[in-house]
Amino acid sequence: MQHNLFLYNTLTRRKELFKPINPGHVGMYVCGPTVYGDAHLGHARPAITFDLVFRYLRHLGYKVRYVRNITDVGHLEHDADEGEDKIAKKARLEQLEPMEVAQYYTNRFNKAMEQLNVLPPSIEPHATGHIIEQEALVRQIMDNGYAYESNGSVYFDVVKYNEDHRYGILSGRNLEDVHDASRELDGVGEKRHQVDFALWKKAQPEHIMRWPSPWSEGFPGWHCECTAMGRKYLGQKFDIHGGGMDLVFPHHECEIAQAVASQGEPMVNYWMHNNMITIAGKKMGKSYNNFITLDQFFTGSHPLLEQPYSPMTIRFFILQAQYRSTVDFSNEALQASKKGFDRLMDAMAQLSRIEPTTGGALTEAYAEEVAAKCYEAMDDDFNSPIVISHLFDCARTINQLADKSQTITPQGLEALTQTLHTFVFDILGLKSEAEGGNAEREQAYAKAIDLLLDLRAQAKAAKDWATSDKIRNELAALGFEVKDTKEGATWKLNK
Ligand SMILES: [Zn+2]
Repeated sequence: MQHNLFLYNTLTRRKELFKPINPGHVGMYVCGPTVYGDAHLGHARPAITFDLVFRYLRHLGYKVRYVRNITDVGHLEHDADEGEDKIAKKARLEQLEPMEVAQYYTNRFNKAMEQLNVLPPSIEPHATGHIIEQEALVRQIMDNGYAYESNGSVYFDVVKYNEDHRYGILSGRNLEDVHDASRELDGVGEKRHQVDFALWKKAQPEHIMRWPSPWSEGFPGWHCECTAMGRKYLGQKFDIHGGGMDLVFPHHECEIAQAVASQGEPMVNYWMHNNMITIAGKKMGKSYNNFITLDQFFTGSHPLLEQPYSPMTIRFFILQAQYRSTVDFSNEALQASKKGFDRLMDAMAQLSRIEPTTGGALTEAYAEEVAAKCYEAMDDDFNSPIVISHLFDCARTINQLADKSQTITPQGLEALTQTLHTFVFDILGLKSEAEGGNAEREQAYAKAIDLLLDLRAQAKAAKDWATSDKIRNELAALGFEVKDTKEGATWKLNK
């Protein structure tokens, strides 16, 4: 099937037809976590959004190299920590080695991602493992005249750059706006202009994480790592760069400036940004201290949570919104997502028990229609909520097939099963959370119930009402609803 995949490019502010640089291959870089604390719901969103992109591109047959970095050093930003290196600060507080802290939270992040069924990226480079590449980037920018050394630190000359190129191309800001908005205290007296940003910082005596450089013992500025590692693993020009919308400025704006200043041309063709998770209308984030960690969701151990929410409920909740719209957290919304997810999984479980009929009303054409609608939604900037609404329609049909008010041919059933498996499991990345999440095991249980119902049918035929009632009542007590139809008994488990 020929696909015209359209994706929204933040750079051009419109949906564009996706054309990879090298036919059949896609290079994608996504800004990963800063590992100084547990992942919260706000981290789950980019991870799941770009997992959906990764899965869909792979499904379309592309060979995708997906790079997602680990920021384990020098994440300086102007927030409550006043520019202090967050990892070093945490290390001092807990009397641990900085790398011990980084490793601990990296492990926990990866475990949470596995629980959310987020596929690991192809390469997960660490900023601390790429200091040499970052220093080379700084040197290139200096050689081209867009950076200067000051007191052992190196700054990007935003004003000089803006004379030759445009700083603000991604965020749509112009230099005056940026200048007025910039209240950064860091580097005051060293920088030529308030808007200049650090490429290399000289380490203060108390700073633990430091590396030698031609300028000073210090550490790279935060924006350097993504430019240096993106270029190292994906080349001077690659297809997609993604991240949360909060990274558009300054992080991604600075990345573009660094790329152009070092190699003379931009590095990225499509910039993709997911919107934020809000809580009572405010962005959920560590800096706002209003976040709920993923572990707290999974265990229900946060005062704002009325109950635990499973990883698949969280994943489904996030996929129920198009990635460019905001998602507001509430217990009601999560409970609705749980119901929706269970409904879909019940339909998937029922699917394996449907008996097709030769000459059934539904044929392969029905499965093709479902697939076409789902592809259409995915090709329109990864519109997962529309895909889910088509799957819900399909779940209703499956219920009709299960209670035998609708029929399907054997080929139709096979095609429908394949289509649903593709979209539900492979592309949306959902999985059953029932007992071990093991489909074979579930099927074995289902067959055991079918067997009991066969025995009940035999008992009924032999007018052994005591046995027939006993099977029905005891199954009911376990939560199985048995329905007698003209074609025989059907059942479902009411959880
Ligand atoms: Zn980044």
